[in-house]
Amino acid sequence: MKTVLAGDIGGTKCRFALITEDLQVLAVQQVATSRDRAEFLHQLEAACRTIVAAVPAGMNPPSAIGLGTAGVIPRGGRLITSAPNLPLDGFPLSAHLERSFGLPTTLINDGRASAFGEYLRGYAKGSDPLLCLFFGTGVGIGLLIGRRPFEGADNAAGEIGHTMYRLFGRKCPCGQLGHFEAYCGGRAITERAAAEIGPAQNGGEWTVGAVVASQHPSAELILRDAFHAAATLTANACTLLNPGAVVLGGGVLSGWPALRGSIEQFVRDNCSKSISQNVRFVETLGGSDAILWGAAAATGALALTSD
Ligand SMILES: [Zn+2]
Repeated sequence: MKTVLAGDIGGTKCRFALITEDLQVLAVQQVATSRDRAEFLHQLEAACRTIVAAVPAGMNPPSAIGLGTAGVIPRGGRLITSAPNLPLDGFPLSAHLERSFGLPTTLINDGRASAFGEYLRGYAKGSDPLLCLFFGTGVGIGLLIGRRPFEGADNAAGEIGHTMYRLFGRKCPCGQLGHFEAYCGGRAITERAAAEIGPAQNGGEWTVGAVVASQHPSAELILRDAFHAAATLTANACTLLNPGAVVLGGGVLSGWPALRGSIEQFVRDNCSKSISQNVRFVETLGGSDAILWGAAAATGALALTSD
């Protein structure tokens, strides 16, 4: 059976695995993400070599490497730019790994990889177009159209969290004003709680769950704003794309489970019937595994179908 090496490179941890043609995730290696480039590359290569050395009997050695990663990846999938939590800005990672392992190496944005993975194996399997919205620290998106992740002209499509919600509104983590992420991103919610409510209980950091549990009147206002923004964003994206399914995920929903149903209800009540009557709202199935599935598929080395 054919295999590829796949990775999920995140700001705090990295996971690598051997992925088979039927999207089994085998021989997982996990390491903390180093901020030092040399150490990061050493850890990455060591994890990959461990996997290559332990390919199970009956399976071919990996024929390609696919890595899903945060940050902007210019068309062609050769390097990462604008990844603030990774020591790889502008580094030619694909060429480096091709020299080290002799395998063609593809990079794919982790939101796109996740959408590809959920389409191939998740609860949204086979839904096309597929819209994945991740309300995490920021607002991420993965969009699949025509059985492939949608990239745009410069592999930068889909940054819906940084589209305009309120003119001259709250400052977004990206530095601009009034973007959706400034209202419904997890970082925005917790920073606003710290500014408007004060220190979190027990001297810890604010979490979205703590804001939801807070009885403070400002918490209600912060969450109302966050719901309005998240629901508006989802409804707008649904009307633009007419997706077959919407995958909702991310840490904000983990800390605030009721938000999921509220968003779905808002879309069903406020979008036209042609948009809302058949769309399915589903949870992520894969999490990090979905990124591994999608990164593996992006190599083109596995004969995958969603059927
Ligand atoms: Zn922004």
